[in-house]
Amino acid sequence: MTTDALPTGAPTGLFIGGSWLTSAAHLEVINPASLTALAQVGDASVDEGLSAVSAAHDAFGAWAATPARQRSEVLRRAFEIMTAEVEDCARLIVLENGKAWRDALGEATYAAEFFRWFAEEAVRVEGGFRPSPAGDKTIITTYQPMGVAYMITPWNFPAAMATRKLAPALAAGCTAVLKPAAETPLTALWVAGVLQRAGVPDGVVNVVTTSQAGAVSSAILADDRVATLSFTGSTFVGKLLLEQTAQRVLPSSMELGGNAPFLVLEGADVSAAVEGAMIAKMRNGGAACTAANRFYVHESVVEDFTAALTAALRGLKIGPGIDRNNDLGAMVSVVERDKIVSLLDAARDEGATPQEVAEAPATGAFIAPHVVSGVEHGSTLTRNEIFGPIVPIVSITSDDEAIAMANDTEYGLISYVYAGDKGRGISVARRLQSGMVAIDRGLASDPAAPFGGMKESGLGREGGFAGIHEFLEPQYLAVDL
Ligand code: NAD
Repeated sequence: MTTDALPTGAPTGLFIGGSWLTSAAHLEVINPASLTALAQVGDASVDEGLSAVSAAHDAFGAWAATPARQRSEVLRRAFEIMTAEVEDCARLIVLENGKAWRDALGEATYAAEFFRWFAEEAVRVEGGFRPSPAGDKTIITTYQPMGVAYMITPWNFPAAMATRKLAPALAAGCTAVLKPAAETPLTALWVAGVLQRAGVPDGVVNVVTTSQAGAVSSAILADDRVATLSFTGSTFVGKLLLEQTAQRVLPSSMELGGNAPFLVLEGADVSAAVEGAMIAKMRNGGAACTAANRFYVHESVVEDFTAALTAALRGLKIGPGIDRNNDLGAMVSVVERDKIVSLLDAARDEGATPQEVAEAPATGAFIAPHVVSGVEHGSTLTRNEIFGPIVPIVSITSDDEAIAMANDTEYGLISYVYAGDKGRGISVARRLQSGMVAIDRGLASDPAAPFGGMKESGLGREGGFAGIHEFLEPQYLAVDL
């Protein structure tokens, strides 16, 4: 398929209280590969946002009281539907986000897995029962669903960031209002349609698409019917939201920006490191919070590594993601592409040498991969989240130097380590200030693992055994038995 056609039945209305509603205003969705309009979706007003909160609030009591087994089975059906229709989801992701088909299919599959994982978690929430040390009572710990969860998601993983929040919230017995990024609303609406077909009762999941993220979110967060915020996006917006949630002491889960170091240490297997780098850097065209952002490579292997990585990048086919032969698609928008171009300009001004290693199409929000040598630690490319196919390489002389540079950032989401042997890799990983470390691998994300960052990369963890607890409130019962 090479046209811009949306999958049959892809919804475009606001999803509130189980109905697909036409909003008075509309938001245009652009295909970044062709820069043509794909569709119009509802552009929710503040009132429409609040009516989604009302629907979620009204649905909460019954959903919380629904046996966990039933909630689990709904999520399992959602997994099955999404898996059967994974290509429709991938198609929507490609069309509105621009990424390569292979990345979109990978994302859609990963996104569906959150429904499976949390279907399994829904029935496994453990409480506690133990005598107090003083012997005067029994300490019982139980967990209750928090209530209405407000969720805000970014454009770079429009399916997975939605399911990584919706699945645990529903498993816990919470109801949800989801606000996807304005660039990529179609995928989130499609996911809501999957949940509806899986049997989620009306009002349990609501989706408001809007161009007024700030105004709609402020009103929703000020509403005392909302019990928790789950945000994925930039650290900048995360901090703005934390100021607002502080006013209500609202629990806030934050999955924020990253600045992942990729360490290739003395003795590392260069070809394995290049293979890992191609995944860690190029998945999603570099537009991932987990994307390797800066490469610290030992002086003994830096030339070989740079040459081999440049050759691997040169082999990539760049073009619209809808053509399944392309390896690198478009950035999400011209605005995002131009941010990357200005980072490259800054690197040049600082004396680094960006080398364009392949040719990007002239039309559309494309950018070619660049390998940048002569980069100093502390320069623009090592300080900013690049979010594109740019590889800044810094030469290092020792493990200690690499670790110090890796930790010299306000971010702490993920790091990558290639050290030659696993023991040394693990010792280095233990000294890195990041919530996740991939050792001899270019990919760590897994619905069964705790995903999240240290420092300004976030608060809380999604996925794994921790994920459901972002939507549960512990309650301690003191009983004299
Ligand atoms: P962004 O922060 O600009 O936007 C994220 C979401 O916040 C969008 O839905 C947007 O509409 C909304 N938003 C923007 N301003 C807002 C405001 N004032 N009030 C309320 N909502 C507002 O981020 P982005 O550009 O969409 O995504 C890229 C960022 O997301 C990167 O920094 C990336 O690292 C981060 N990210 C983090 C993770 C993670 O799990 N840690 C995953 C994916 C992306």
